[in-house]
Amino acid sequence: MTAVSSAPAGLTGSMLIGAGDVRGRAGAVRGVDPATGEALEPVYGLGDGSDVDRAVGLARQAFPVLRATSPAARSAFLATVADNVEGLGDALVARVVAETGIPEPRVRGELARTTGQLRLFASVVAEGRWLGARLDTPDPGRVPLPRPDLRQRRVPLGPVAVFSASNFPLAFSVAGGDTASALAAGAPVVVKAHSGHPGTSELVGRAVRAAVAAHGLPEGTFSLLFGGGRELGTALVAHPGIAAVGFTGSRSGGLALVAAAAARPVPVPVYAEMSSVNPVILLPGALAESGAALGGAFVASLTTSAGQLCTSPGLVFALGDPAGFLEAAGAAVGAAPGAAMLNADIHRSYVAGTGRLAAAAGVTEVAAGAVDASVGACGQARLFVTDGDTFLADRGLQEEVFGAASLVVRVRDLGQLERILDALEGQLTVTVHAAGRDLGTAAVLLPRLELLAGRVLFGGWPTGVEVGHAVVHGGPFPATSAPATTSVGTLAIERWLRPVAYQNVPDALLPEELRDGNPLGVPRLRDGSAE
Ligand code: NAP
Repeated sequence: MTAVSSAPAGLTGSMLIGAGDVRGRAGAVRGVDPATGEALEPVYGLGDGSDVDRAVGLARQAFPVLRATSPAARSAFLATVADNVEGLGDALVARVVAETGIPEPRVRGELARTTGQLRLFASVVAEGRWLGARLDTPDPGRVPLPRPDLRQRRVPLGPVAVFSASNFPLAFSVAGGDTASALAAGAPVVVKAHSGHPGTSELVGRAVRAAVAAHGLPEGTFSLLFGGGRELGTALVAHPGIAAVGFTGSRSGGLALVAAAAARPVPVPVYAEMSSVNPVILLPGALAESGAALGGAFVASLTTSAGQLCTSPGLVFALGDPAGFLEAAGAAVGAAPGAAMLNADIHRSYVAGTGRLAAAAGVTEVAAGAVDASVGACGQARLFVTDGDTFLADRGLQEEVFGAASLVVRVRDLGQLERILDALEGQLTVTVHAAGRDLGTAAVLLPRLELLAGRVLFGGWPTGVEVGHAVVHGGPFPATSAPATTSVGTLAIERWLRPVAYQNVPDALLPEELRDGNPLGVPRLRDGSAE
């Protein structure tokens, strides 16, 4: 590993704890360019328990002030965060590319998604539906007992710990969806940065902190910690001042944090997005009519971002003759160039995972892509095939291999497909390709699919998650630890809220959104119907 001599402007290697720059003393980490192995300046000091204490203590102090800000004020704050992150421009894009090997066009797209998410939550806060205001009209004359005046709204849980993901250094990181939705809810945020992109984290963290100051919010509204060896992350989740946790990453990491949160004297929810292989189902008509075209399009999805997407299609079930599909997909995989993976650890676990698939009994390799010897941590696309009996006999074949590898399963008949679907773990997505004559089969499958995954697609491919009001990026375990919600889209705000009912509280004491005159003008339900 060679070292680059000087740190880019704006990077200090410090944690951002409230308004203070704090140099961690519990070890050090540096960004590394995965393509060249070059170590990047500056060196980041790692924090310890005392830094967690300080950041969470400030977050606790900030909480009553932040949650009391008006929706309009919080909306303006989020808009400034978006402007500030956007303002980092080319310097941010260059740093993300250097630290992750993600190609520049995708980084620019992810930056737009990140600022778009922040602005979306700015509009959500201002609109007010998230408050969940409900009023039940009292009936003092009801017999045998009067009906009370009941009103309900949602309040934030308290300070939130956010664990950045390695594979989305902007959209699921320091100012990503977890942070945006938590701040929108009125919850201060303490981010545990991912060690894979510390410079990116510092740049974005400073942009958030500048917005905190510009809007006169308490410094503890936002802090950014660096830590390694799992100690700092575990201490953060265990801290009594943390009220909820957002996480995207490995199954083992997510489960460790769920266990740490459950072991606290006061357990707290962990919204962990972990592992998904995103099955794709090819029905007979679709295979016959457009098998070859589907093969090419599938590989384009599989090799996006070197397959390092939580929605990458890692399993394909072919009900019908897959010859045309396999031929085209094999040719496309064979032609796929090698691409730098996010870091050496992820590359190592990809090589181990594909090695397990290659060695599994009854599994054959269809094709392998190129390896670029000049690129370190180079991910090689790989495609395997097996049959339904082999798949049903070996649960290991449904484990996530994070990268551009996929397994095609030849399925004998609809009954076998149903048995396979029943044997699958929970997923973020499931995709069906159906021609007109397949619709009856698809109708039979749909009730199973909606129990299997958070998002059911007809046609297209699961990569590329639309950020909006109706999207779900979640699903049953192990896709997530909390299947009742989503980590993408406006519904994500609900993870950080809980409902409170106010019974016979005098109007002057009620929160504004519940007062008789509805001075904030928020959408409300009265006696179960829109007001
Ligand atoms: P990771 O190893 O789970 O790490 C994510 C974050 O969680 C890091 O900040 C890490 O802290 C922390 N962490 C992990 N295990 C922990 C533990 N036991 N206790 C406390 N904190 C812990 O994820 P990753 O580095 O992003 O990628 C590793 C693997 O995760 C990949 O190979 C892939 O299999 C999977 N992955 C899946 C998805 C998906 O969406 N399905 C996305 C990304 C990654 P430290 O820095 O202290 O280790």
